Amino acid sequence: MSEALETSQVLSEVLEDLRRHLLWQEEDGGRFLQMDARLAAEARAMRLPRPPAAVRPVPSAPASPAPVVERPAPARVPPPAPVAAPLVLPNVSAQARPSTGPLPGGERPTLDEIRRELGDCRRCKLCTGRKNIVFGSGNPRAELVFVGEGPGESEDLQGVPFVGAAGQLLTKMIEAMGYRRDDIYICNVVKCRPPSNRNPEPDEVSACEPFLRAQLKAIQPKAIVALGKFAAQTLLRDSTPITRLRGTWREYEGIQLMPTFHPAYLLRQPAEKRKAWEDLQQVMKFFGKPTGQRG
Ligand code: SF4
Repeated sequence: MSEALETSQVLSEVLEDLRRHLLWQEEDGGRFLQMDARLAAEARAMRLPRPPAAVRPVPSAPASPAPVVERPAPARVPPPAPVAAPLVLPNVSAQARPSTGPLPGGERPTLDEIRRELGDCRRCKLCTGRKNIVFGSGNPRAELVFVGEGPGESEDLQGVPFVGAAGQLLTKMIEAMGYRRDDIYICNVVKCRPPSNRNPEPDEVSACEPFLRAQLKAIQPKAIVALGKFAAQTLLRDSTPITRLRGTWREYEGIQLMPTFHPAYLLRQPAEKRKAWEDLQQVMKFFGKPTGQRG
């Protein structure tokens, strides 16, 4: 094919496309392009030679191309991201429940998993004044767990439970029982310090206690010592005063629970230490420890 013929064919196709486009614009009322009337007339009058079929077939085109309607591109749906298996926390209210669904294989969560689930917790208003979440410390497979009320100032600063004056007394009590702190596990009902060491409020207890219950489920101790009324009343769901609860074995989820006074109370009322020691001696007997010594 000569170069002149090829150029002519290309030009012919371009002009044919232009003619169709102008006609379409005219039929559309010039909505997209205000077409010059003279140009439209010329376009209608155009009679351009078609290229020889044997040389280059032109696919038939619609007489009136449909106007281009812009449609939004179909939204891309990304494949679901892999999600870590959520934890099951025992006795969790719907409001406080951090997640649902079992762990793979129906295993109970570990302390590390519960701590990760707690995260940078904002489930109650105690988060606003805390410096550190005080999750708990000690042996994750302890046979004995001490449960207190909530962190004080020293605990909030260090992120460790029972390290202030009351904590020092608790350490003495633990050692008098024949344990080291590393042998047992210590935690609180609420993990953030209530302002000015006030009592935790009911909404704060209900927001945080699922994590305590999950901790106890993870550790599965043989016995629990509930220190003070908040720990005892929360775990036992019993509003009886601690003065009447203390000194008598109770049961929490199949675990023996001994309510006794909180060490902070004993610092204010040293005369009550004797009763607390009697309560702890019962725990020692439970574990077959000699009860003659006194710390
Ligand atoms: S007290 Fe418990 S529920 Fe409230 S913010 Fe702290 S960790 Fe979360």
